[in-house]
Amino acid sequence: MTGPLVPPGPLTTGTELNAVYAIARVVAETYDTETGLDTVFRLARTIFIFDIVSLYLQSEKTGDLEPAYASALGRGRSQEAELSWGEPAAREAYRTGQTVLRQEDAGPSVKGRERRRDYLGLPMLVGGRCVGGLVFGRFGGPSFPPEHIRLAEFVAWHVGQLLENRRLAHRIATLEAQRELARMQDEFISTISHELRTPLGFIKGYVTTLLREDVDWKPETRVEFLRIVDDESDRLRELIDNLLDSSRLESGRLGMTCVPTRIATLIRDASERTRSAHPEMDLRLEIEENLPSADVDATRISQVLDNLLSNAHKYAPDSTVTIVVKNLDDNIRIEVKDFGPGIPTEHIPHLFERFYRVPGETSTIRGTGLGLYICRKIVEAHSGKIGVHSKLDEGSTFYFSLPTIAIAETNNSEKDDE
Ligand code: ADP
Repeated sequence: MTGPLVPPGPLTTGTELNAVYAIARVVAETYDTETGLDTVFRLARTIFIFDIVSLYLQSEKTGDLEPAYASALGRGRSQEAELSWGEPAAREAYRTGQTVLRQEDAGPSVKGRERRRDYLGLPMLVGGRCVGGLVFGRFGGPSFPPEHIRLAEFVAWHVGQLLENRRLAHRIATLEAQRELARMQDEFISTISHELRTPLGFIKGYVTTLLREDVDWKPETRVEFLRIVDDESDRLRELIDNLLDSSRLESGRLGMTCVPTRIATLIRDASERTRSAHPEMDLRLEIEENLPSADVDATRISQVLDNLLSNAHKYAPDSTVTIVVKNLDDNIRIEVKDFGPGIPTEHIPHLFERFYRVPGETSTIRGTGLGLYICRKIVEAHSGKIGVHSKLDEGSTFYFSLPTIAIAETNNSEKDDE
């Protein structure tokens, strides 16, 4: 015998019928197993008497039975510690696949009638497999009469359904997560292949052209082609560096080497790099005086600045760009402000996610959606915060903060208004 596979036959009283319908409804409608079990056992107690109920399920890790749920509902309410008493009945029902009745003696520490313990063990069937045992315990007799055993089997069948629902929900969630992962991997491969192909296409095209033996290229044309090859190789290297950084940042393998650093100097260096790369850009600095030092990895913070400035150049090409640096209570706040197209509000919460790019016009500009993610990870590794304020057609202000250390910078002439 493997225990009841369908609810046992017709019931007798109206109370039983109502409780049975209510139990069936709970099983059909409840997704939270713990709440479902609480309700089912509360309803069960209206149709037959028991003092404790406990559920033992096979552990996925060890394969052994482990307590999964326990509740004292009747006379044993104050004796929750004794719930484990039903374990032998659960084990026997699990091992034999049959309903078992055990009578035990609580021993001399329990006075009076309650020394007598009756345990009704029922096999727990989920998806046609016995996965554990359900135990109803009754203290102080009398034992469970046959009609109560029948009702208990009915309840056990429904508890099995509740667990089956949970198993299926879990399985669906796992499958959905796997599908989402596969989708993200596909999307990642297609984005990255596209991004790698573009510079590679230029390099291959111009090199093949230069190698043609039937054409005698003028020196200035040759230089121009080689410059394109040079630029595109830089892009390729930058892309691969970003990919490596992003994977190291994600797994926490990118260590920061932090030393007390003058932030104003970092900002000036970053703005010089941007000016030499984009001489046409109207870049201004507003740096507050007497900035304290901050404990930072200068290379990584420079990377954040370069990224924000490069984005301002890419997405707000004709705009004035201003770097504003302020000393707040215990941190330095750095802002990169442009007067470009701005970013639609609904995309702002996602901007710092890996591979996120705003769809629409700006997505025609080359990029991978890694830059802001890398910035966020670097700033967070410094215990700082990063964010953006943006309004459509007015512009965007990307900002980040870095906690300061108490030593004031010696150079007081940091105010620049260019
Ligand atoms: P990428 O530039 O490679 O696409 P980022 O992570 O640096 O990746 O930026 C994510 C997206 O944020 C960009 O695709 C762009 O749509 C938007 N964005 C970033 N900076 C600006 C800016 N200054 N103005 C408008 N949009 C911006």
